[in-house]
Amino acid sequence: MIKLHDKYFKPFISAQEIETAIERLAKEIHNDIGEEIPVFVGVLNGSFMVVSDFVKKYPKPCEVTFIKLASYEGVKSTEDIQRLIGLTQDLKGRTVVILEDIIDTGNTLAEIHRIFKNEQVKALKIATLFYKPAAYKKDFKLHYVGIEIPNKFIVGYGLDYDGLGRNLPEVYQIKETQHMTNLVLFGPPGAGKGTQANFLKEKYNLVHISTGDVFRFNIKNETALGMLAKSYMDKGELVPDQVTIDMLNAEVEKNADANGFIFDGFPRTNAQAEALDILMDAKDSEISAMVALEVEDDVLVNRLLERGKTSGRADDSNESVIRNRITEYYKKTAILKDYYSTQNKYFGVDGVGSIEDITERLSKVIDTL
Ligand code: AMP
Repeated sequence: MIKLHDKYFKPFISAQEIETAIERLAKEIHNDIGEEIPVFVGVLNGSFMVVSDFVKKYPKPCEVTFIKLASYEGVKSTEDIQRLIGLTQDLKGRTVVILEDIIDTGNTLAEIHRIFKNEQVKALKIATLFYKPAAYKKDFKLHYVGIEIPNKFIVGYGLDYDGLGRNLPEVYQIKETQHMTNLVLFGPPGAGKGTQANFLKEKYNLVHISTGDVFRFNIKNETALGMLAKSYMDKGELVPDQVTIDMLNAEVEKNADANGFIFDGFPRTNAQAEALDILMDAKDSEISAMVALEVEDDVLVNRLLERGKTSGRADDSNESVIRNRITEYYKKTAILKDYYSTQNKYFGVDGVGSIEDITERLSKVIDTL
């Protein structure tokens, strides 16, 4: 993901895909034109990249020139008239191929047709690398199209957002949802994730989703999901991935406008982590960090037994179930540390001390994200 000015953009079309499309355009155009020497006309500023790469792939001699769209103040102060400038060459009798980086509404194209009307060219062909069919409002023929794209704002490969992004070798699409902070709060059972999540969600205005809490809510309400989960939870085992992932997706969807999420107790397996990435990507977002509370086993067992006296949780009152949950954590879940470490998103925090001290330590990490 990249940030230009105030907006975030996600990768959309790779440099390789662009190259392949340009190669195909060059081949198609050459097939139609044959031995004749065409004049390729790039429309500045956006087309400088595509023209440069295109003519390098064009197999036969050709001429290259550029025109530019210039804005003039209209007669009324609100009116903005676009005019093409820079056409100085005599193109009479020539085959002209306009090379555009992108055609969306087709307004530029209308202007091109207007100025070429009197040029007496032999043929005027239109080629564009990107084309937004949903935005196109004209009926000029587009002779050569590289890649059709949805009606979303894109930058890169010559295209800019308020002056920035033209130099990017690949194309990015605007992220329509606001920037989110999504935390995976990590740590063995009893590390204090729930307690800390309650403070952090207020402080950072995030939605807290604890998969354990959602399961317990379902058990209490005797839903089908609850009944299924109970058999695993009572033994301290993990609920199967697909059940948990579907439930998590539904919880996230219930909070479509969230500023971000604190995931507590999820993901617990690689499959869950991958599913979470896919879910975040679909929301034009990503996991910002995994913050992990690090606490020794014996401290955990004591804390959980203590909690079991008042929490009413069956899995908190039996030491062997507690030890099994901790073992499950290290066996299946702790590998997720690597998953996020390789993306430089893992932050370990000492989970022993007063609640306030630990909140402070976690906040220090979150504030740097
Ligand atoms: P927790 O409240 O996070 O300690 O979770 C209590 C129990 O709920 C766990 O021991 C599992 O049986 C089940 N559970 C919670 N989250 C998950 C998850 N992400 N994947 C599988 N099982 C889970």
